[in-house]
Amino acid sequence: MKETLAVRFHQTGGTEVLKIEKLNVPSPGKGEVLIQNYAVGLNFIDTYYRTGLYQTELPSGLGFEGAGEVLEVGEDVTEFKVGDRVAYPHSPIGAYSKYRTLASHWLVKLPSSISYEEGAAMMLKGLTVQYLFRQTYDLKQGDTILFHAAAGGVGLIACQWARHLGVNLIGTVSSEEKGKLALEMGATHFINYTTEDVKQRVLELTHNQKVKVVYDSVGKSTWETSLDCLAPRGLMVSFGNASGAVTGVNLGILAQKGSLYVTRPILATHISTREKLVAASNELFDLVSRGIIKIQIGQKFPLEQIQEAHKELESRRTKGSTILIP
Ligand code: NDP
Repeated sequence: MKETLAVRFHQTGGTEVLKIEKLNVPSPGKGEVLIQNYAVGLNFIDTYYRTGLYQTELPSGLGFEGAGEVLEVGEDVTEFKVGDRVAYPHSPIGAYSKYRTLASHWLVKLPSSISYEEGAAMMLKGLTVQYLFRQTYDLKQGDTILFHAAAGGVGLIACQWARHLGVNLIGTVSSEEKGKLALEMGATHFINYTTEDVKQRVLELTHNQKVKVVYDSVGKSTWETSLDCLAPRGLMVSFGNASGAVTGVNLGILAQKGSLYVTRPILATHISTREKLVAASNELFDLVSRGIIKIQIGQKFPLEQIQEAHKELESRRTKGSTILIP
């Protein structure tokens, strides 16, 4: 048994519900390992659990992603040993913690060329881009897509992956500064939605052809505009709710706007087996190890400043990935 500091919440709500508490971490049982997180990933989904948009049993820990070192190994664990560098994109909720015991099947080995901080900043977000670009729709060189929140954590990985695939990525952002960063990372164009009309700009940039795929993690506030940016029979990939969830959709809108397709994917489906998790992770590690994707850590907070970290993310002040240091 080991003692740890961890973030917990006993009720849903604003950032004030997040508390640092002392917890006992059990010794690893069959199939489990005890790890020390050197860095933890902050993801927008964490805010959905905190506010109650997504439900979990309370009181609860928070966070899904981290990177660290194996300290102890339980019975029947063959893939990992003490001292291994590991990372995980999507563990059971509770990653905001210095020490954790968890089933080893959530972990992958972190290549030595990738730091713990990069590991925590890239697993959930990078594997999301992997499935969005390679599985939800198999993007090909020359395709043009619209990607919302292009300067965010997922966004800056998407910009670089799109450049690697030869895909033209038009990114939406809330400021010129974020737009310039998206361009630097591989976006072909940016649209500052606070000063420009997104649909109009997409028409101009595509010579009225519109785009094949829209990747929309903003949700409620962008849903209809996103559909308006799609070419006939285009694909709307609605994969997040940063502005609130999309609800009450009349399917007829897909007919009116040109026989459109819609999907609402989540990462968990795409890494639901060990084979899928390892294969997708290896593809991501390969691109990062070769420098094709450089993980952009825009912000770093000590775990104790978790309230501040959530505030920054939700108020659109962050760029790239945000990590927490326990
Ligand atoms: P980001 O770093 O991208 O932060 C969210 C960004 O969304 C903001 O920086 C902001 O960029 C933009 N945004 C637009 N409208 C709002 C709003 N009303 N409130 C807050 N932000 C807004 O976060 P992540 O990289 O962690 O995640 C990006 C998105 O992808 C999230 O919606 C997340 O839920 C989703 N996601 C979905 C997954 C899935 O499998 N379905 C997996 C991983 C992430 P700007 O200032 O430029 O507008």
